[in-house]
Amino acid sequence: MIRIEKGLEKIGCEYKSLFSMSRYTSMRVGGLADLVVYPRSHLELMIVLNLLTSFNFPWTVLGGGSNTIIGDSGIKGVVVSTKKMREIKILGSGKVVAEAGAVLGSVLNKSIRAELSGFEFAAGIPGTVGGGVFMNAGANDGEIKDVVEKVWIWLNGKEIMLSRDELKFEYRKSYLPEGSVVTRAMFGLTRGNRKESERRVKDYLDKRSETQPITISNSGSIFKNPPEIPAGMLLEQLGFKGYQIGRARFSEVHANFIVNSGGASASDVLKLIDAAKKEAFLRTGMLLETEVEIIGQEKS
Ligand SMILES: Cc1cc2nc3c(=O)[nH]c(=O)nc-3n(C[C@H](O)[C@H](O)[C@H](O)COP(=O)(O)OP(=O)(O)OC[C@H]3O[C@@H](n4cnc5c(N)ncnc54)[C@H](O)[C@@H]3O)c2cc1C
Repeated sequence: MIRIEKGLEKIGCEYKSLFSMSRYTSMRVGGLADLVVYPRSHLELMIVLNLLTSFNFPWTVLGGGSNTIIGDSGIKGVVVSTKKMREIKILGSGKVVAEAGAVLGSVLNKSIRAELSGFEFAAGIPGTVGGGVFMNAGANDGEIKDVVEKVWIWLNGKEIMLSRDELKFEYRKSYLPEGSVVTRAMFGLTRGNRKESERRVKDYLDKRSETQPITISNSGSIFKNPPEIPAGMLLEQLGFKGYQIGRARFSEVHANFIVNSGGASASDVLKLIDAAKKEAFLRTGMLLETEVEIIGQEKS
């Protein structure tokens, strides 16, 4: 680890040792990461990734941590955080290029200010461009795949560009090559009307605040919607609304959200996930698949 720290200091890259991941993720659970590294640009990200691979050191990339549950035993190795890689450039003819750590809401706001339309669906989705591409984030009848044109990834020491088709997006899923990291993405938007876009964004945000527990720590939807029924409706029918283990519970506002009432452990959250999966299978035969990424030793 000391060799890595020395290498990071040489590059001038910020890092934090023994960092509690409960301070990183939106669910506010998770143990310590040995090191969290914060490159400030896609170029610095690539230098950091090359450094870590040259030492054969284990690493995990994270954006905003809004779709991730980290186990109580934390992350052995390095977390490469894209949170400080936030550049967004508006190019001509409706193209927007954003670094992986740019927050989706900032891409949206900047596009609207430039009178560009197409990104409004992302209103209220927390998280970053990299996380959004990784899981094809979507809401309000739109998804990242509808607007992304090119994605640049780091793979085996180099930055390469992939087209939307090469990423083969599906519902909350992309096919990024194993071991790759999104460095930047280009979105193709159309000429829009600022007032009209702002009205749509307001409608989406109002709807979200009525139907989701937005004022309490959570990770968004826990399960993907099975083809037969929305996951929230199924969990409600199975009696999970308000069901609590430790300091974590299925929200009374939306049963597909687990909320942390303060001081929950990852183990509380993972037990709830397990309980719901088992009950759904026993009573309906459906296999619920998590939408959240679970990282760390305890998996459900
Ligand atoms: C209140 C709330 C509401 C939400 N609503 C929605 C919604 O409506 N629709 C929706 O789709 N999601 C929603 N989410 C989930 C989440 O915001 C999205 O999935 C978001 O795209 C995750 O981005 P992130 O940067 O936080 O990802 P993280 O949680 O940091 O990472 C998620 C996964 O992406 C990978 N990853 C992150 N960055 C990169 C990168 N640069 N390269 C490669 N892999 C990467 C990570 O390794 C991890 O496996 C919601 C979450 C919350 C808390």
